[in-house]
Amino acid sequence: MPLYRSSYEFIPPMIVILQSHITEQSPEYRGLMEFLANRPNISTRIHKEIGTQQTLTEIYLVGDTAALDKSEIEVLPGVERVVRVSEEYRILGRHHDDTRPTGFEYNGVRFGQDTLHVFAGLCAVDVPEHVETMLRALRDNGQVCTRMGAYKPRTNPYSFQGHGKACLPWVFELAGKYGIKVIAMEITHDSHLDEINEALRMTGNPTGVMLQIGTRNTQNFELLKIVGRQHQLPVLLKRGFGITLEESLNAAEYLASEGNRNVVFGLRGMKTNMGDPHRNFVDFAHVPVVKRLTRMPVCIDPSHSVGSRERAPDGMLDVMHVTAQGVIAGANMILVDFHPAPHKALVDGPQALTLDELPYFLEDVALARAAYEKRRALADRFLKRK
Ligand code: PEP
Ligand code: MN
Repeated sequence: MPLYRSSYEFIPPMIVILQSHITEQSPEYRGLMEFLANRPNISTRIHKEIGTQQTLTEIYLVGDTAALDKSEIEVLPGVERVVRVSEEYRILGRHHDDTRPTGFEYNGVRFGQDTLHVFAGLCAVDVPEHVETMLRALRDNGQVCTRMGAYKPRTNPYSFQGHGKACLPWVFELAGKYGIKVIAMEITHDSHLDEINEALRMTGNPTGVMLQIGTRNTQNFELLKIVGRQHQLPVLLKRGFGITLEESLNAAEYLASEGNRNVVFGLRGMKTNMGDPHRNFVDFAHVPVVKRLTRMPVCIDPSHSVGSRERAPDGMLDVMHVTAQGVIAGANMILVDFHPAPHKALVDGPQALTLDELPYFLEDVALARAAYEKRRALADRFLKRK
């Protein structure tokens, strides 16, 4: 059941999932397309899900799908399954009877609703020494992902705006040197996408980039369309800090509707004074909600949610408390600010963790993850799914 109803009339489309051996050349495919062409007011859109093992073809049916008989299509040769889409997030949504897999693989790293990756790194790239120290620490702690900001959208026009394209070649080369496979990097304009692709090409693709759409750009629809039209780089879309969850999930769907389904959804706290004394009201209770409504892996950003290094009386930093809360609820990715010398950081130093805290942070995350896995097994036993 949809969580909410939108005010506009929504006509549910259908997705016809073809058997894995069927291609556009197969007679079954041609027969099916002929069958569909003879239905009144139905148009089709083909999507190919290219996996490592096989390519799955899906046919989206839009228009007067209410008049179609699902079981009639399901028995046609070459058809694996038919899903009637009952919610707004047609591509990324989790629909009734929808057991399609979650997630994707990028540059050798798998992202799904069952995986967990830590993206610890600098909020903003500053000098090579800090970047290299950070990357070395990540490698020494078995990490293959990081965050590095080159384009920083700032509230104050006089604040440091990021080094931009000038830093990309050396950041990518250093990442490759330390075995980093994926860098989360925010872009705020389509020219940044070109600059990143050019720098990756120039340096011989030593690493990969997950494009980050920040909370200030969640509803920058033109940017979403451009990022959605490219299929090389996956996208981390942050929830808008002052809009509804439904609006942010629709923003993610923009990316998918343009063809890029490799989308991670990021929770980073909401702008409301009720969140005081945190920078934003921590919204990690929505981790399972997003997993229920969509098939996207869910990221948490404890640094931009909490925004400080405040410590609770039990000795733990608020940043670490909320991280554990997100992980124990099943988060799939953690975007977290670290800095080798936070007092010298050009952006967000006061919320950064230090490198000596990295192994401690990772161990704390592992504890929370183990607790999540035990909770899952317990739920399975209770529901007798195993
Ligand atoms: C960031 O991750 O550096 C950032 C600016 O985050 P947000 O868009 O969530 O504020
Ligand atoms: Mn920041």
